[in-house]
Amino acid sequence: MLPADFSRLGEECAALEKAGVDRIHWDVMDGVFVPNLTIGPDVVRSCRRWVDVPFEAHLMVMDADLLAPLYVEAGCERVLVHQEACRHLHRTLGAIRDLGASPGVVLNPATPAVAIADVLDLVDQVLVMTVNPGFGGQAYLASMETKVAEIAGMIRSTGRPIRLEVDGGIAPGTVGAAVAAGADTLVAGSALFRDPEGLEHAVADLRDHATSARA
Ligand code: ZN
Repeated sequence: MLPADFSRLGEECAALEKAGVDRIHWDVMDGVFVPNLTIGPDVVRSCRRWVDVPFEAHLMVMDADLLAPLYVEAGCERVLVHQEACRHLHRTLGAIRDLGASPGVVLNPATPAVAIADVLDLVDQVLVMTVNPGFGGQAYLASMETKVAEIAGMIRSTGRPIRLEVDGGIAPGTVGAAVAAGADTLVAGSALFRDPEGLEHAVADLRDHATSARA
C-alpha cells in the first residue's frame, strides 16, 4: 500500500482487490527501526471493511511485542516481524500465533539466512527484503537471490508449507529472477500503482512473469 493515495486508502484497497491481488501488504514503520513513519492500526481497521482479501502487516518497528496485537485486532491475518528488531524473536513469533494470526519473519539485506534457522518451525512465512526497508520505489537488489535460494532449501528440509516472500523493487523486470531463486509470494508497490495501463494490467503482468519463471 505504500505508493497508494493515503487520502483514500479504502478505495485503493477495493481497487487492488478488484485487480486480483491475493493479499494487501501494510508497511508499518515506527520512525525508529526505519527512518519513516506510516500506517497505524486504526488506519488498517478503517480499511478492513472495504475488502475481503487477507491483510498482512509488515512491522518495521522496534517494539513488535507491543504493536503486533494491535494489528491483529485491526484485522491483519498475517503479521511479519524483523529478525533484527526482536530481542526475543522466538517468543514474539509464538505470541503472534497465540493471538490467532499467522506469524512470519523478515530479514534485512545484511542479515544472513542462518539467523532464522532456529525459528523456522514457528513461522508460516519468511520475507526476504530485496531493498533496505523504509521507503518505496527503491531498486531491487539482485544479490539477495542467493539468500532466497538458500532459504528455499532450508524450507524444503522442514517439510512444512512455509511461504517465501520477497519485498522491494519487485516489477516485471525483476520478478522472474526472484521466482526462479525460489520466491513464491511477491510484494509489489510501485510496479502496481505506477503502471500506466492500470492496476489490473499490472497484477496480470506480474503474475504472468512469475508463472513463466516457475514453469
Ligand atoms: Zn513490506
